[in-house]
Amino acid sequence: MRVLFREVCDVFEKMEATSKRLELTSLLADLLIKSDDDVDKLVFLAQGKLAPDYEGIETGMAEKLLIKALSGVSSLEEKEIQKSLARTGDLGTVAQEVAAAIIQKPLEAKQFDVSYVFTSLKSISSITGQGSINKKLAIYTNLIISSTPLESKYITRIMTGKLRLGVSDATIIAALISAFKWEGEPGIVENAYNCHPNMGRLALLMKEKKWQSIIVTVPEPMVPVKVMLAERLTSLPLILEKMGGRAAFEYKYDGLRTQIHYDGEKIKIFSRGSEETTENFPDIVRSFKTTFHLKSCILDGETVPYNPETGELYPFQIVSRRRGRKYDLEGKTEEIPLVVFLFDILYLDGKSLLNMPYQERREKLESIFKENENFKLASRLVSSENAEIQQFFDKSISDGCEGIVAKSVSENTPYRAGARGWQWIKFKRDYQRSLGDSLDLVVLGAFSGHGRRKGAYGALLMGVFNQEKDTFETVCKLGTGFSDEVLFALPNRLSTFRSESKPNNVESIMEPDVWFYPSLVLEVVAAEITVSPIHTCAFSSIEKDSGLSLRFPRFTGIFRDDKKGEDCSKTAEVVGIYNNQVKK
Ligand code: ATP
Repeated sequence: MRVLFREVCDVFEKMEATSKRLELTSLLADLLIKSDDDVDKLVFLAQGKLAPDYEGIETGMAEKLLIKALSGVSSLEEKEIQKSLARTGDLGTVAQEVAAAIIQKPLEAKQFDVSYVFTSLKSISSITGQGSINKKLAIYTNLIISSTPLESKYITRIMTGKLRLGVSDATIIAALISAFKWEGEPGIVENAYNCHPNMGRLALLMKEKKWQSIIVTVPEPMVPVKVMLAERLTSLPLILEKMGGRAAFEYKYDGLRTQIHYDGEKIKIFSRGSEETTENFPDIVRSFKTTFHLKSCILDGETVPYNPETGELYPFQIVSRRRGRKYDLEGKTEEIPLVVFLFDILYLDGKSLLNMPYQERREKLESIFKENENFKLASRLVSSENAEIQQFFDKSISDGCEGIVAKSVSENTPYRAGARGWQWIKFKRDYQRSLGDSLDLVVLGAFSGHGRRKGAYGALLMGVFNQEKDTFETVCKLGTGFSDEVLFALPNRLSTFRSESKPNNVESIMEPDVWFYPSLVLEVVAAEITVSPIHTCAFSSIEKDSGLSLRFPRFTGIFRDDKKGEDCSKTAEVVGIYNNQVKK
């Protein structure tokens, strides 16, 4: 049976008026029952979409253009329509008013069916090239002229991507279950959608009662799988207990969730929200083919920008700026390399791995590639010891991560697409706190530069002075905040302080390429102080076998030539700042 678009609009109108989930479900289910092979189009319209997100199809018409079209079909000036839009905040309502008041309707209004409206709207989205705007406007105008005011409202809303029905995917799935009398566990249908998040496909399978196809739905390369998410707990011992006394702990990288698909030819990258983002990562795409030699796969990981000189990871905000490959860092245009830390594999060489236990998936992942600068494995520790886990957590923070994710190592640990569950538990540290003040750190050593920094130092090993012990202790590696000019002048500037080996008043776990007598003092800012097992500042005084370090340190550009080595910031100051932070 053909469902008329006006019937759909009547139902949408009722749905808009209720917030009760049961009512929404039953209104939508009644509509779905009437549908035929247009059921896929109907559910897309209910989602306010013309295709699944991952296809990246948008109607692509700005409100400004629609206002122009509405003005064209009425005697209203664009300005007046703009005013109505300012008043109502909804161009759909404005289109409804415009259509009701003044449009010269054809003698007999057309009875559009769902397929016609859907296909027209979709054709608008596919028009490109010269004159495309006029062609798009012509289709929209034709639809408005021939439709009822209520239809105009919903056509316009879909066109602007603001349907606002308040119906979630879960409600649409519940309506499908009810309309087509699925008698199994609702979770099976939800899982089918999470593995293959195309509501149109699911609706057709449900309508045709292809139950088996729903039950056996598995991931498919090029179709993003809804990502698995973690629960949270606020103490490591609690996490260990919840995990049954032993678990895997992985760094929780602070970047962008990255799902990589490969079908033997093409590579696509999807975001946490299942949107295709391949274009933003050309270097990852390039490097994929030389890193992996497989028939097909789906990999899960986190992409993080990093400093190749220091290995330091940058905060996530820099990745989101990564559009068009160039972005501004420290006032100059610089390209920041990205590394994908892989932590899961969902599909390999034609087979779904979703039901394989986590440990086996991790082993598979480890076996299919060699780490390089673009692809690494998420750092991980399998442990049942609280102290060891605490150290691993501290190290994750000092390495630039936001904490750790505990992962169950039991047998029953499939990859649960789209689910947030206790198989994964996150434990993170809010890093938003800023030190507030700068510190004056002394140069203790340097690491040779590579690539663009060849011939200069890639990073400096920085320290503070411990007055009680009369020694210098390391507190961070510093590679950020230097102009090229300063960077290339540093070896010369530091040459007079060079030492053949580690000066005996320096306490360090790290081994730089060059040692210096503690002399040159630089002003440095940082995000916060964290516990770190690789730095010696206040070693073992806050936590056993760990020191304190600066997170995200940056040179302010100021050399404190007025200070001698011993005049640099003191260990006690760093401890004081750390204690204050903890109290906050
Ligand atoms: P958050 O703000 O904590 O990232 P979220 O809702 O985005 O919250 P969560 O499930 O709470 O997601 O945490 C998991 C997120 O952490 C993943 O979406 C992923 O982007 C990121 N992540 C980083 N490292 C890992 C890892 N080793 N394993 C799983 N997720 C990781």
